[in-house]
Amino acid sequence: MSDSVTVPSYPIEEAVELAASRTALIVVDMQNDFVMEEGRLHVPAAKETVAACALLLARARAAGARVVFTQDTHEEGDPEWAIWGEHARKGSWGWRIVDDLAPQPGETVIEKVRYDAFYATPLDHLLRLWGVDTVVLCGTVANICVHYTAASAALRWYSVVVAVDGISALEPFDHHSALRQVSFLFAGRLSRAEGIRFQAAA
Ligand code: ZN
Repeated sequence: MSDSVTVPSYPIEEAVELAASRTALIVVDMQNDFVMEEGRLHVPAAKETVAACALLLARARAAGARVVFTQDTHEEGDPEWAIWGEHARKGSWGWRIVDDLAPQPGETVIEKVRYDAFYATPLDHLLRLWGVDTVVLCGTVANICVHYTAASAALRWYSVVVAVDGISALEPFDHHSALRQVSFLFAGRLSRAEGIRFQAAA
């Protein structure tokens, strides 16, 4: 079926200032299979978000904020392949995070088996150990792994910030609905990557 809907408005803030010591940047699933044309589950809009993710990474690193990468990870027989076909096979080229956003030594990479990066991973444990109360998200796919990770963070009472130009979806509807849900349902904050700043402790 096909229908036309009006996108309800949601606020996009000009600037969001965050304390680096209590904030983690989570770069969601920016892996070859999703970002690159040769990937198995290519999201064409993802390539255009690499620069926004790189800007956030540079700022988070410079300010000393924690950086986390999530990496969709499946092995033979994973039931998710029945939905999406084979993708993100552990150890494959498609599974690897794109070179332009490669994790640096010492940065945390969370291998995840489902859309939600908190599910069956130590992510919540690590954020609490680090004293983090706010997460900034960028990556792909907006209404899938970004959304379910944002939702899962918000349900645990982390403050959620999403870079509107740092996420990508297969359809504009999905992109809008992910942002609308973060704003409307979780009182999350939205801004362009350019407006998101991590303040180092004085
Ligand atoms: Zn997957």
